[in-house]
Amino acid sequence: MSESAITGRCLCGVVTYRVDAPLGAADHCHCSMCRRQHGAAFATYADCAPSDFAWTSGEEAVQVYEVTGGGGWAFCRNCGSTLAGTDGGRITSVTLGTVEGDPHVRAASHIFVDSKAPWFEIDDTLPQHAAREPASDGDEN
Ligand SMILES: [Zn+2]
Ligand SMILES: [Zn+2]
Repeated sequence: MSESAITGRCLCGVVTYRVDAPLGAADHCHCSMCRRQHGAAFATYADCAPSDFAWTSGEEAVQVYEVTGGGGWAFCRNCGSTLAGTDGGRITSVTLGTVEGDPHVRAASHIFVDSKAPWFEIDDTLPQHAAREPASDGDEN
């Protein structure tokens, strides 16, 4: 396990994971699916490469729920903690809320703010994107 490894766990402690590389870009997602899935105003993820991610215990308790044509979430069947974001069954991000200690990344933007909860006001100065972080060809409308 490398010095830079990130570890995380669910609320009940059955499921633990490790990311063997520094985490990538992090953002707060305000889309209605993440809000509903987390039961929260928004969800915060940091990207990771699927090959750097490993379940270190409790993989048998991990349930993946994916939406049609999109990504999904990996959560603990026992306590409900959402541990990671998935894409086609592969882990592509971790939820910063389940990282143990300092993840050494900070959320850099708000995404899908067009779907933001009406009862939550963003009061920081991070960039806000209507949907995804715009690609190099500009914002989609
Ligand atoms: Zn759990
Ligand atoms: Zn989302």
